[in-house]
Amino acid sequence: MQYVPFGSHGFQVSRLGFGAMRLPTRKEGDKNVVDREQAIQMIRHAIDEGVSYVDTAYPYHGGESEIVVGQALQGGYREKVTLTTKLPVWAVNEEKDMNRLLDEQLKKLDVPYVDFYLLHAMGRDRLEKLQAFHYRDFLNQAVKDGRIKRPGFSFHDNYQCFLDILHDYDNWGMAQIQFNYLDDKNQATEEGLRAAGKMGVPIVVMEPLRGGALAVPPPDVKEMMENYPVRRSAVEWAFAYVANFAEVATILSGMSTEEQVDDNLKIFDHLTVGGLSEADIQFIRALKEKYLSRMPIGCTGCRYCMPCPNGVGIPDIFHAYNEARMFDRNEGFARHYARMAQDGHDASRCVQCGACEGVCPQHLPIIDWLQKLNTEYQPK
Ligand code: SF4
Ligand code: SF4
Repeated sequence: MQYVPFGSHGFQVSRLGFGAMRLPTRKEGDKNVVDREQAIQMIRHAIDEGVSYVDTAYPYHGGESEIVVGQALQGGYREKVTLTTKLPVWAVNEEKDMNRLLDEQLKKLDVPYVDFYLLHAMGRDRLEKLQAFHYRDFLNQAVKDGRIKRPGFSFHDNYQCFLDILHDYDNWGMAQIQFNYLDDKNQATEEGLRAAGKMGVPIVVMEPLRGGALAVPPPDVKEMMENYPVRRSAVEWAFAYVANFAEVATILSGMSTEEQVDDNLKIFDHLTVGGLSEADIQFIRALKEKYLSRMPIGCTGCRYCMPCPNGVGIPDIFHAYNEARMFDRNEGFARHYARMAQDGHDASRCVQCGACEGVCPQHLPIIDWLQKLNTEYQPK
């Protein structure tokens, strides 16, 4: 296992972090519950083999993740890891909710404090809401009374919003962002990652495999990997890209099986900051281009076409279709489209008024695409 300093906090952390959002599950009646015995064994096995960072959050596994993580960390394991959980910002309706939720989470985890407490899935609206509830005072007080060691935030919005949050508080101990070789220009972006580094805010990366999609490349991408002189698995290329950045402390992987834990441990044995050659970096850019070339609709998601007067979810349909084509997951799109039809946002609602095409900066033939997709995927 490789270790790096966690920014300037004065301790080291394993490059691989255990994300407790995809723990093994089993059926209990008609419900999926965490297979606690297996999950606890997996988490402890990862720690025994060198993983020293564990990430959970209030909503993971319907609230069960924090409890299971707490159980896994009994018996001397808590002292071996940096433990992070997150404030469910959406559940904060008044100022005192922040204290109440933190206390509830510490109880579930069965610990007196967490090392990092993150404001979960921050974006513009949530920042404004928490500002109104004086979130800085809450975090400062929780640090002072010892319930959290360091505050941070996890993030899902755009670059500008990321900078605004970074500058909104002086004591961020870290920021957790979605980052992988397809998302270097999305959400916080590589520029945001660099900006955080310059401000001394270490980065923890989530979704390094883009929800697992980068682990299973389509045939043309796979062929490129097979023909490249340096042999790495698809998973390894994705992890190696993120691990190359000095600003990145830990890379989270939501592991579900012991096999995945062992595969990841092997990969993180040798992934180092700056470990990729210039040729490797160019190759990863080529992989990204290949993925992007598989997206048939040049929709940028700007949403200028919204709202459609008839409720058609234009960018959402295009985004889901592009993703499905990019990763060869047509059945996934069919399911997504059926859900959109149920919610009244599918393309069958289009009356071809042309309002969307008139404002689309990409001049996309939106109506043609909607018709084509509706013909092919309208649920019977
Ligand atoms: S053309 Fe169809 S999708 Fe576009 S705005 Fe009109 S009804 Fe909505
Ligand atoms: S305006 Fe065009 S590019 Fe923008 S979201 Fe709508 S379809 Fe996509």
